[in-house]
Amino acid sequence: MSASIIELARANVRELTPYMSARRLGGNGDVWLNANEYPQAPNFTLTAQTFNRYPECQPKQVIERYADYAGIAADQVLVSRGADEGIELLIRAFCEPGQDAILFCPPTYGMYSVSAETFGVERRTVPAKEDWQLDLPAIADSLDGVKVLYVCSPNNPTGNLINQQDLRQVLELAKDRAVVAIDEAYIEFCPQASVSEWLKDYPNLVILRTLSKAFALAGLRCGFTLANNDIIQLLLKVIAPYPLSTPVADIAAQALSPQGIATMRQRVAEIRTTREWFIGELQNCDCVEQVFTSETNYVLARFSASSSVFKSLWDQGIILRDQNKQPGLSGCLRITIGTRQECERVISALATLPGINSPNATNTSSSSL
Ligand SMILES: *Cc1c(COP(=O)(O)O)cnc(C)c1O
Repeated sequence: MSASIIELARANVRELTPYMSARRLGGNGDVWLNANEYPQAPNFTLTAQTFNRYPECQPKQVIERYADYAGIAADQVLVSRGADEGIELLIRAFCEPGQDAILFCPPTYGMYSVSAETFGVERRTVPAKEDWQLDLPAIADSLDGVKVLYVCSPNNPTGNLINQQDLRQVLELAKDRAVVAIDEAYIEFCPQASVSEWLKDYPNLVILRTLSKAFALAGLRCGFTLANNDIIQLLLKVIAPYPLSTPVADIAAQALSPQGIATMRQRVAEIRTTREWFIGELQNCDCVEQVFTSETNYVLARFSASSSVFKSLWDQGIILRDQNKQPGLSGCLRITIGTRQECERVISALATLPGINSPNATNTSSSSL
């Protein structure tokens, strides 16, 4: 690319570091535990054949089935290309570039920051407290100019739920000034913790959902934004005219059928069982300092030598997610709950780690992160 073309780009885009998704990070593994995906591919057959026609912007059956599933009205649901698009639509609808800000509480999901940066919107952070709950006084002091707050619950990558009382307080603090987006990407693993029933109480509440995690459809790219209809109407002004292709809408509707939802719940039960077994095993590993409780399909753990652990497993084809660079997460790796066999591979790899300080542990050829 010539230098002059790069000069043409917006300054914030020239400086932008794109989101390092698990796929972009690469790796040559056969045990993929770095993206919180479901380990097995569900089976679907396309039924729609009208590929000569443009799809519906908001496919009616998908919207109605999701509204039923979430226990809310159809006019409180927006469907988009993954929850990631929902994150971005909020910024496009509510934040004036160069003027307004978003707020989030690290360590948390990376896309809030990347989306805001792309649009030239200020990213304000209020670090979570040591117990990974919200620092409410600091949030109250940081709301000037903030239009959207993102709170992830259960939080990625820590795995904990945010206290419901604190979520209510944030909604009160933000009343008449900002939208509060609660990211419930993992809520199927702890459905009792959803705040979807609060939509009737808070006009500034937004809930983000996805089919990528418990529904086992990360490759489909389908997510949902739940909010009162005033907000949905604003988001519909800025969404692409055809955000979902016909095959995506077809498969999403099947995934949200009664049968699809029952299958999802079986998957959740099975993952939770594997998770509890896996946490117990991790706690017995010499290289593990701390295992954090999880309400999700992944576990965060602190290791005594996390980079050698990461590289050693990487070299054996077991790909984890390094969270070591996130604030407060030094030495931490995030491990997706895969099949029982995959989790057993992790445990036996950890049990047979080469001496943490031996040259073999560090002298490897894998790419660095
Ligand atoms: C995976 C994830 C998303 C993105 O979901 P998609 O629907 O795949 O875009 C959003 N938020 C959190 C916290 C996630 O972990």
